[in-house]
Amino acid sequence: MEATHIKDNLNRITEQIEAVCKRTGQNPAAIQIVAASKFRSIECLRMLAEDGRIAAFGENRVQEWQSKYDPALTWDMIGRLQTNKVKYLVGKVRLIQSVDRMSLAEEINRIAAMRGVRQNVLIEINSGEEEAKGGIVAEAAGEFWQQLQTLPALQTAGLMAVAPFGIERAELKKLFEKVRRAYEEIAARDARCKILSMGMSHDLELALECGSNMVRPGRLLFDPAQVL
Ligand SMILES: *Cc1c(COP(=O)(O)O)cnc(C)c1O
Repeated sequence: MEATHIKDNLNRITEQIEAVCKRTGQNPAAIQIVAASKFRSIECLRMLAEDGRIAAFGENRVQEWQSKYDPALTWDMIGRLQTNKVKYLVGKVRLIQSVDRMSLAEEINRIAAMRGVRQNVLIEINSGEEEAKGGIVAEAAGEFWQQLQTLPALQTAGLMAVAPFGIERAELKKLFEKVRRAYEEIAARDARCKILSMGMSHDLELALECGSNMVRPGRLLFDPAQVL
């Protein structure tokens, strides 16, 4: 049954996290697992939520998320976000991980202030500097962080990065390390910077080795193991 293989996958991911943490000296309990849940059914997500090891469900598209939305579950937005969709999310998602421009941040701030809430967000880094993807370059993170501090209804909690596909491990490691440096530079002067969201199915371990404390597995968690 579907439920069984997902539990097995989650056990394997937990073991992977523990193994890497043993090597790096990180505390495995401090690593959050965000299930990248695009295209997965709400029934499946409810079952997984009961397990208790998933910190949040990360959705990519507002419309799909709305069709699944259950306030009993914890949700993150991890996909590219249009400004006109912000109103649906604010106050309902734990974390908007994909803030990559001031106009988007301002709209989140405006709606949050209107509703009397503070919205947690992450700055998205386009680590591979790919044009088709969202995110800012790592070098601009510090300055963007400062700009976001002018928005009182926004709580910026860290950085998120999506790595490019199909590049060599050594290259990927360089990209992750670059994001980590940007993260550490900000964290050194602002204690509110405490989340580094990196690592998907194919690069989970490497991301953890490079200091990630929030991983976002999708296929590794939901698909039968033999597919990978
Ligand atoms: C889909 C997605 C993931 C998960 O990808 P997998 O390769 O299925 O693990 C993680 N982060 C983001 C932003 C995604 O869009």
